[in-house]
Amino acid sequence: MKIDLTPILSGELKELHFSFTENVSGEESDIYFKGLDITPRGYIDVKGKICDISGYYELECSASMPYTTHCARCGKMVEKTCECSMRRTVSQKKEQESDDEIFYTDRQIELDPAVYEELSISFPTKPLCRLDCKGLCPVCGQDLNEGGCEHSQDNKDQDTL
Ligand SMILES: [Zn+2]
Ligand SMILES: [Zn+2]
Repeated sequence: MKIDLTPILSGELKELHFSFTENVSGEESDIYFKGLDITPRGYIDVKGKICDISGYYELECSASMPYTTHCARCGKMVEKTCECSMRRTVSQKKEQESDDEIFYTDRQIELDPAVYEELSISFPTKPLCRLDCKGLCPVCGQDLNEGGCEHSQDNKDQDTL
């Protein structure tokens, strides 16, 4: 995802809006989602704008990505969408980018790393198939959403504690 900044750097525009849908790159996904139980379902939607605020440039952007993961309680596969948003100061490339900056080179911003990074910290740590998922019986492994087992009275007691 590259954004050409020419219209804003030349002063032609004060606000540059962008919106695109990009296929998930396996390479980036391997780097940023490493160790996470995340299987992207193909694409990322990105939209936002870059504003010229009297001589400095600011990027505002939001992204969403559908993905598949597993319920933290019952282990069932669940489809979810991760959403994130960010705000960065746009600066010309220097040594090291700080957290609230994004660099451009040759009048272009490469948005991928920032978007993947922001998504990677936005996944829920305990995704659930539904808010009241009852989980599995710790004794026999019965899926308690599908009905009780001989131990489920114990589970009810635990729930009310
Ligand atoms: Zn569940
Ligand atoms: Zn049981």
